[in-house]
Amino acid sequence: MEGVAVNPWLMSLLLFLSLSLFVGTMANRWWLMRAGEFHWKHDRFADRVRHLFAVGFGQKRLLYEKGAGWMHVGIFSGFLVVSLRTITLIGRGFDADFHLPLLGGPLGIVYTVLKDTFSVIVLLAMVYAIWRRLVLRPQRLHLSAEAVLILLWIGSLMATDLLGDAALFRLEPDHAERTASWAGNLLSPLFAGSPDAVVHQWLQALYWSHCVLVLAFLNFLPFGKHFHVLTALPAVYLGRLTPSASLEKMDFEGKESFGVGRIEDFDWRRILDMYTCTECGRCNDQCPAHVTGKPLHPREIIVHERDAAYGMADHLIEVGKLKAGGKHEAAAAKIAEFERPALIGEVNEEEALWACTTCGWCVSSCPVVIDHIPNIVDQRRYLTMMEAKVPSALQGALKGLENNSNPWNVSAAAREDWIGDLDVPRMRDKGQAEYLFFIGCAGSFDDRNSEVVRAVCRLLNKAGVDYAVLGTEEGCCGDPTRRVGNEYLFQMQAQQNVATFRKYKVQKVLTACPHCLNMIGNEYADFDLENIEVVHHSELLTELIADGRLKLKPGAQTKVTYHDSCYLGRHNDIYDAPREVLEAVEGVETLEMKRSRREGFCCGGGGGRMFMEEDLGSRINHERIEEAAGTGADEVCTACPFCLTMLGDAIKETDRSESLKARDLAEIVLENLAE
Ligand code: SF4
Ligand code: SF4
Repeated sequence: MEGVAVNPWLMSLLLFLSLSLFVGTMANRWWLMRAGEFHWKHDRFADRVRHLFAVGFGQKRLLYEKGAGWMHVGIFSGFLVVSLRTITLIGRGFDADFHLPLLGGPLGIVYTVLKDTFSVIVLLAMVYAIWRRLVLRPQRLHLSAEAVLILLWIGSLMATDLLGDAALFRLEPDHAERTASWAGNLLSPLFAGSPDAVVHQWLQALYWSHCVLVLAFLNFLPFGKHFHVLTALPAVYLGRLTPSASLEKMDFEGKESFGVGRIEDFDWRRILDMYTCTECGRCNDQCPAHVTGKPLHPREIIVHERDAAYGMADHLIEVGKLKAGGKHEAAAAKIAEFERPALIGEVNEEEALWACTTCGWCVSSCPVVIDHIPNIVDQRRYLTMMEAKVPSALQGALKGLENNSNPWNVSAAAREDWIGDLDVPRMRDKGQAEYLFFIGCAGSFDDRNSEVVRAVCRLLNKAGVDYAVLGTEEGCCGDPTRRVGNEYLFQMQAQQNVATFRKYKVQKVLTACPHCLNMIGNEYADFDLENIEVVHHSELLTELIADGRLKLKPGAQTKVTYHDSCYLGRHNDIYDAPREVLEAVEGVETLEMKRSRREGFCCGGGGGRMFMEEDLGSRINHERIEEAAGTGADEVCTACPFCLTMLGDAIKETDRSESLKARDLAEIVLENLAE
């Protein structure tokens, strides 16, 4: 739009007004964020940059989703490309020949082609987005006036730019950018019959309305869900790099309150999450609690917390300023004097917080890497440690974990009773072994799961693996304790196990439980247990079969469907090993469920849910077994004790015992072992 009369005064006024307003709003958002617990951690710079390029700029989490995902990729990339044009246009309010460095020559021509192309892509994506919202109305989206307004706003930005070019080319047919600006050129005939003076007025109007729309858009963003346009990239850069199930170690030193009972108790990163939520609803899509009618909706957790934070923004901003200035006592006094809706009970329902299985669907599907699990567990920590308010069924499990280091509350002395007369070496006799086989509470105390660990031991013996178990020296890994919020007890359990590992100089841990695997492999590092290799039995079995140390015979013809455990798959990225084992068994035909691998549907037993009643909505394990049975399989194969229990129960409860059975991978291998 070079033909526009330069007006530095008007442009300066526009910039001054809009930018001062914007800086003021952003400063308030910053202070509100500082009301949270502020710890600045900036580690692994190179990994963060890689993450930013893959998930932020590369939109990795949206690429697998055709339709809406690609639409968003189109809008996002268009925005990046067109933002350079916006800066250029603002510059031309001061100097008609303004261009960004390097964009004045041939590179500028290339950029113009790209700019027009992306403007058209954005416009097409806008049309699709509006049609999708107003006509298709996918279940996961709320019909929101704000979303439609923003779409129209973005569309107007593209349209004013392209139409401005069209008017310009009508006035200056030999303009240097005419060929490169193919879309502007195509639109130029729209002004063909109008006198020059009218076209010039159009050009002025389009140019200034484009600038006003851009600056107004910038100021509108922080007030709604489109704040993510500004916060998503920083949030992705600062997002977690550790596995999605690992929780941060709580520091008890000098604290009087534990967990999160108010917005200000959240880590500031959680408040950034609230700003960044796009309300897309992907996290709700396959949340097992949401799908089966529990009161938990991961999107609403984030959105309701954000609305609550905005509702008391003035107060939180003051608290943030006091905390940032190191005036913690004054901040505490301000917090204490303020009446507000209770975070737990009014903003979030207690039942919702307890309904989470920590399956990780929400975290893995969120395009802007919002971390729902620590948000929920932090509130459970408050309920458990500050208010002693835990579901009644869980109280027994916690008592057992405290007294006997197992949720079944069986005497700790009985921890190695599962061994019976089987030849299983103990660490206390052997002193050292290549693998410590960590059995876990389910393998030790639950009869059905004891059969599984016995099967694993038989396979290890057969393959001549150098291993030993801890027997009565083993304690609960701490997974259920930590997920239900008793961090204090968990830390004691972790320290005790780490001390035992050190005593035997353990370097490799084998486990048949993905929860133990996750805990020891990902969370014990905070207890100075590093450089330890943790292997799941599916991985070791793959290796032993490939090396010929376990030889399989042709087995009975059977159809098997493999159920991905959330803690093995989504949280630890182990999808192939169990499938490879099944494929190695001759006569086993594997059938995939519709929701498998990253999209696998939870069994309902994680996050301490194994030890709670499921009396709201339908049962998660029933929904999963329905899907497994729908494949036509004879058996469902698991690689996790919680999954085996939950799916085994579902088979009985849905009267499928005749047609379907649930078995662990190790049991299938053992049955098909050559003599
Ligand atoms: S972790 Fe799973 S159960 Fe919990 S909120 Fe997320 S999707 Fe729902
Ligand atoms: S938390 Fe993430 S996935 Fe869920 S609605 Fe917000 S942006 Fe979408």
